[in-house]
Amino acid sequence: MKLEIDQQRLNSEIETLAAFSDAEPPAVTRIVFTPMDLKARAWVISRCEEAGLTMRQDAIGNIFARWSGADPSAPAVGTGSHIDAIPNAGKYDGVVGVLGGLEATRVLQRSGFRPRNSIELLVFATEEPTRFGIGCLGSRLLSGTLSAEAAAKLKDRDGESVDEVRRKAGFNGNLQEVKLPKGYYKAFVELHIEQGPLLERAQISLGIVKSIAAPASLRISIEGAGGHAGGVLMPDRKDALCAAADLILAIENAARSSGAADTVATVGVCDVFPGAVNSIPSRVGMTLDIRDTDLARRDGAMQTIERASHNIEVERHVSIHSEILNADAPADCAPEVRAALSDSCREHEFPFLEIMSRAYHDSLFVSRIAPTGMLFIPCRSGYSHRPDEYAAPEDIARGALVLAESLAKLSA
Ligand SMILES: [Zn+2]
Repeated sequence: MKLEIDQQRLNSEIETLAAFSDAEPPAVTRIVFTPMDLKARAWVISRCEEAGLTMRQDAIGNIFARWSGADPSAPAVGTGSHIDAIPNAGKYDGVVGVLGGLEATRVLQRSGFRPRNSIELLVFATEEPTRFGIGCLGSRLLSGTLSAEAAAKLKDRDGESVDEVRRKAGFNGNLQEVKLPKGYYKAFVELHIEQGPLLERAQISLGIVKSIAAPASLRISIEGAGGHAGGVLMPDRKDALCAAADLILAIENAARSSGAADTVATVGVCDVFPGAVNSIPSRVGMTLDIRDTDLARRDGAMQTIERASHNIEVERHVSIHSEILNADAPADCAPEVRAALSDSCREHEFPFLEIMSRAYHDSLFVSRIAPTGMLFIPCRSGYSHRPDEYAAPEDIARGALVLAESLAKLSA
């Protein structure tokens, strides 16, 4: 089977999709279910229809584009990623896996290949946590990792629930029905930019993911006592921001002293109330994002943080409340999918690196219900989630080629 990726068309499609943006180019902003996102989705659907794929959308807005196999009742082989983008992002995150997956399907069609299992391109809805505060909502629901009731209640910044927002966007189905039946996918492969610098540093164009790190995120609120910055003397203070400072350093320390470089913890949001120069902070709201490739080690670091938080409460006479938004387990990629990817690389004599995914992806959740793997391509300087995110057209084409061959092997 001789496969020739149409690199030019794939590249021009990536450029076209990037123009569906609420930010000035080269930045891309495409928040899920905004008018711009809906236009972009319609465009992607039209490209899939042009390729003769059978379309379906579920109640959360996941898009399924299916190329029926010779045995349509057999479990499908899936591929895909997302097209939503955080504010001021780039063109490639998620998009490479969607349009690369589409081109992988088309190149197989052009070659005369006929799959036994159907091949299905999946465009996951609301992968980015921008709107609803939780990432991978579409794949969490597909995999049953999150219940329909819990998902329906999540709210965006304007206080609109997932249920209200999706209905306004035209998705009126039953959220309970988003969960895929057991055995729906025989295998799933996601093509994605690395979002890190390792492939570029090694000057290797392909990365086969071994495992996907486990993220947890928490919302933490610290309640102290406010007062006049001149009037309240130091022994009498219950400064919520000073307590937050202690806690942030304790968080950093918990990650640094976990015993492995794979533990990473970040406080990325810190809202201070009332936020006036001459007023003692009475309340602080912050977030914690903590990840590891090892679940026990990550949970150990979380317990260390909890103990530190309790000590700070006692020492500083504040109350600290933390709420776990999600605490997911890491995933190992499936041996059969990794083998399909590495065999395809070897056949072309493409060198590849076995690599860890430190960012998490929809594949993390799909892995709960199907053998799953990921293929990475380099992105310049490891930059992602910024306007200068860049992946070279030849790397994208090579990724799409290896993806196509792997889909062929898995669906033959
Ligand atoms: Zn992504």
